[in-house]
Amino acid sequence: MKQIYSARDLLEAQLLKDFILDHQIDVLIKGDLLLGAIGELPADTTPSVWVLDDDEYDRAKELVLVFKGRDKTSQVELTVWKCLECDELIESQFSECWKCGKTRPVKNE
Ligand SMILES: [Zn+2]
Repeated sequence: MKQIYSARDLLEAQLLKDFILDHQIDVLIKGDLLLGAIGELPADTTPSVWVLDDDEYDRAKELVLVFKGRDKTSQVELTVWKCLECDELIESQFSECWKCGKTRPVKNE
């Protein structure tokens, strides 16, 4: 068993685990005890992701890079857009204005 990634939090570890499991590689998360014991563990306990089969290590590491690349992309896109109808600022993951329901305007580039 080899460690392939040290996550910044449990959510990221979980996302990566699901992503790699989708590629038929068995992984597990270590250090996810925070689930049942919030406040009882030191704050620097960060979860890590491990691949069970050493032979899958290289492939799993590649998937980590893909995962991180995807992560970066989604952060770049995390900007706000302005509703033309009511001037409300909407986070980019929403395609409609939460206030008036107007669809996000097409970007002029
Ligand atoms: Zn609106």
